[in-house]
Amino acid sequence: MGVPPTRPADRAFARPRRRPTAAVAATVALLAVGAGVLVGLSTPAPHPADAPEGEFSAGRAFRNVEVIAAEPHVAGSAANDRVREHLVGTLRGLGLQTEVQDAVAPEAGQLSGAAGGATLARVRNVVARLPGTDPTGKVFLVSHYDSVQTGPGGNDDAAGTSAILEVARALSTGPRPRNDIVFVLTDAEEACLCGAAGFAADHPLARDGGVVLNLEARGSTGPVIMFETSRNNAKLVEIFGRAAPHPVGTSFAVEIYRALPNDTDFTAFLDRRFVGLNSAYIDGGAIYHTPLDVPARMDRGSLQMHGDNALGLAREFGRTDLGDLRAGHDDTYFPVLGGLVRYPGWLTLPLAVAALLAVGALGWLLRRRGRATAGTLAAGFGLTLVPVVVAPLGAWLLWTAITTIRPGYAELLDPYRPVWYRLAVVALSAAVLFCWYALLRRRVGPAALAFGGLAWLAVFGVLLAVAVPGGAYLTTLPALAGAFAGFAALATRRDGPWPVVAVTLAAAVAVVILLPPVVLLFPALGMGMGAVAALVAVLLGLAVLPVVDLLHPRAGGQRGLLALRARRLGALPAAAAALAAVVLAGVGLAVDRFDAAHPVPTHLMYALDAGTGKAAWLTREEKPQPWTDGYVDGTVSIADDFPGLGTTELRGGPATAAPLPAPKLDLLSDSRSGDQRVLRVRVVPQRQVRLLTLHVDTGTATVRSASVAGRDVPVEPGDGRWGFGVVFHAPPPEGVEVTLTLVPRGGAVSVRAMDASDGLSGVPGFRPRPKGVGVVGSHSSEMLAVARTYPL
Ligand SMILES: [Zn+2]
Repeated sequence: MGVPPTRPADRAFARPRRRPTAAVAATVALLAVGAGVLVGLSTPAPHPADAPEGEFSAGRAFRNVEVIAAEPHVAGSAANDRVREHLVGTLRGLGLQTEVQDAVAPEAGQLSGAAGGATLARVRNVVARLPGTDPTGKVFLVSHYDSVQTGPGGNDDAAGTSAILEVARALSTGPRPRNDIVFVLTDAEEACLCGAAGFAADHPLARDGGVVLNLEARGSTGPVIMFETSRNNAKLVEIFGRAAPHPVGTSFAVEIYRALPNDTDFTAFLDRRFVGLNSAYIDGGAIYHTPLDVPARMDRGSLQMHGDNALGLAREFGRTDLGDLRAGHDDTYFPVLGGLVRYPGWLTLPLAVAALLAVGALGWLLRRRGRATAGTLAAGFGLTLVPVVVAPLGAWLLWTAITTIRPGYAELLDPYRPVWYRLAVVALSAAVLFCWYALLRRRVGPAALAFGGLAWLAVFGVLLAVAVPGGAYLTTLPALAGAFAGFAALATRRDGPWPVVAVTLAAAVAVVILLPPVVLLFPALGMGMGAVAALVAVLLGLAVLPVVDLLHPRAGGQRGLLALRARRLGALPAAAAALAAVVLAGVGLAVDRFDAAHPVPTHLMYALDAGTGKAAWLTREEKPQPWTDGYVDGTVSIADDFPGLGTTELRGGPATAAPLPAPKLDLLSDSRSGDQRVLRVRVVPQRQVRLLTLHVDTGTATVRSASVAGRDVPVEPGDGRWGFGVVFHAPPPEGVEVTLTLVPRGGAVSVRAMDASDGLSGVPGFRPRPKGVGVVGSHSSEMLAVARTYPL
């Protein structure tokens, strides 16, 4: 008697005789693996202040955090002078050769676009050296000690700075390392990365390059992620995996970071002869650059992780031959249960192609065994795009709805208590996937749908391998594991235990690889881009479909009431996930309310034209909050009046003129030769300011060359009336000398000078923020700018 061929698959790959037991066992195993992943991403317990002296102690480091971040200490301020004195005293107290590099330095990288001209700063870097016994090179531990003007920088970057002080203490009490260790605490990172740029370009200790370990924080909690490396990083990553006690890092982060408009001091070193690693913790981003970035908000577990890794890496690089750390290639690497897995980047494309071939072979086998037809395989592949598109779209719509209910979120990098919203996005992604699966499982068949998921993972793997190689492992490896699980299932008795074991193992691989990016992408990108995490969550769901299938009754074979019951049961996971998404979003809205400790962020600045007596309130909020709305009434263009504030359109409103002086312009010399005029001027602030700008009306003269404080600056014509400009951060009280070589167009040359200080409390018409209204994390809120045009 012939057995009728199986209807195109009633099960994905496994059909265990005791399905409920198998389903529970597989689910419990995956949950355990998921818990292991979360433990691997968690921060260590902070060591107390009386920990052994060779160890890094967050307790000891935190004492320095409290001193450094006692108040906002923007570059050039008296508060920053006090911080610097504390750093110098501490490092000298350790017996280290310590000095202050006092210099005028240009910015690193390409930040000038928004700032309105060539950017420089007066910087004072604190540099200390622990000489090695037999150096093969130098190891640089770098952090910035300045803060933004809007907050004390309790995390950003008192975390990195105090961690380095504690590492310096631990290193100077133990045996001397072989290589030189140089501690570089930079100035004016927030303004323009100028401190790091000045060190990398001009300091004698930087002349021969070396290994840079940069320590940053962009939040208040979460694991420290090694998110950026120099090119050809294989040897560095190998050492990172071996020597960092908590090696959380992924080659995918490097790719994401390159796509984001962020920069750190590390950029300044990459422009030069350095190699290195850049690390930061990034969760709790709501307080980033705000007055709430105080020491009390720091997660000392994150500080411990920063310090453990920095000390481990400093010791290892301190003994390694630094002769040639540049490998011929980049590595692919990612965290696996507390460790780091890595393989050479040149394997990326072959692996991706292998995964594609393996999944193709699986499809062919499924067809041959009668588990699927060409038609259902094609349908499975095509229809898998539905959740891949719908889940991110749903996440975006969910966040749009939540920000409509709570508009203040628009100005936040991430909500204060984002966990509920993150879980809501994950639940929503699961709901989309389960719903899709329940609808198609009987029609297309579980095997064809499982194939469709693996096929897309493999296709994404190839696309990523070409475009974003560091991220290709995310889909290539789960696709490979899933294909091999399929082969194993097809090669063994279908109703035996092995198919269940095989699909569970493959799903575990997917959980290990794809759960960390789901967890880390939320803080990295913020809820506004929760769609990206939703996409990764769906990819994870597709990779574990054969296990999800075990939760369902058979897809075929039943009739009548049994079939109806099966369909109802099949809809259960989708319904439960959808309900969870709604409940979690609701809990988020209920829990994360704005209050005095979690204020709604607002942005306000004040700009005065001292020549005309016209003043304005300005905000960068696109839809002004109720508090801000009391100051502004429409869109304004400031490019003509305040070129030093950039060229973007802002919201603005009229203000009362404050009796504040504009910076003075002293003409030191004026010489002519041929059609050229050389103007030497000194811009002198008439009050305590944070920055000075000088712009030339390129309708009155063409600027040929320029120098600021003796340094030549690039002359690239900009847009608009004020086509040439310079921005100088942390100017000394005696002002800044600027030399302009230009060709006038006939009459007087029009020059506009502006300066800016911080704090609006003395400005006429300013009403202090009520409780529950706070200051947004930015480089310009609370700024008070005064400008004036001078004809020369
Ligand atoms: Zn910062």
